[in-house]
Amino acid sequence: MSERVQLLWYAPEDPEGWIYAIGRVSHSGEDIWWHRSWAGRSRVHVRDWIRRRVREGHESVLEFGYAVFYIPRISRVALAQITRHRLASFCVRSQRYTEVSRRDFEYLEEKFEGYDGVGDLLREAWNVYVDLVERCGVRSEEARMVLPQGITTQMVIGANFREWRHILRLRTHESAQEEIRELMREVGEELMKIAPSVFEDVVVEG
Ligand SMILES: Cc1cc2nc3c(=O)[nH]c(=O)nc-3n(C[C@H](O)[C@H](O)[C@H](O)COP(=O)(O)OP(=O)(O)OC[C@H]3O[C@@H](n4cnc5c(N)ncnc54)[C@H](O)[C@@H]3O)c2cc1C
Repeated sequence: MSERVQLLWYAPEDPEGWIYAIGRVSHSGEDIWWHRSWAGRSRVHVRDWIRRRVREGHESVLEFGYAVFYIPRISRVALAQITRHRLASFCVRSQRYTEVSRRDFEYLEEKFEGYDGVGDLLREAWNVYVDLVERCGVRSEEARMVLPQGITTQMVIGANFREWRHILRLRTHESAQEEIRELMREVGEELMKIAPSVFEDVVVEG
């Protein structure tokens, strides 16, 4: 598993088998347990059925799968973009109840290594922030306004499989910003391991 994107959990345990069994209820006289038994009998059959539903755009059955990821380092720029996805759920480290640390600048320092102006700007922003909080007694929720957008935080994001498909389509597209594209490409690789028939058409190879 990648360090940048960590799959915390997914549900149900066999997403493809359950998506198939649940979806089959709509057009069948058999009960769900009959269809569920196919998951153990023919993975090829189960996956083909899911692929056909995806091709038809019958994506509501994909909502029965869910996955949650921990992203330990994401810039506030990428955070602002990913949190536009209203059907996903989020938890983000607060800049009100925790103080920003020097570590939160590392992503920017690495990204713009060699640009002296950026290094100077970051040092200055950090010094002003610390001065505001420690010497002037400004609350961290106010002092953070002087910080660059590109500093990082940590977040947890969960979504159902239909929404993950939507996010991957938009955020791994070449028009998306590099950082979010890379993070979502890694999310896609993890999702491919748990439900390939659901994600194979929206996952971009690394
Ligand atoms: C490359 C790129 C550039 C962008 N640039 C900008 C920009 O410059 N400015 C800007 O403001 N945004 C920008 N965005 C964000 C974009 O406008 C969307 O807010 C974001 O991508 C979330 O998309 P969504 O609403 O489809 O997704 P989600 O919120 O994830 O929703 C998923 C789907 O659910 C349905 N849905 C969700 N909520 C509703 C609702 N209330 N009513 C009806 N249907 C709903 C829709 O079908 C929607 O597509 C950009 C996005 C991308 C990918």
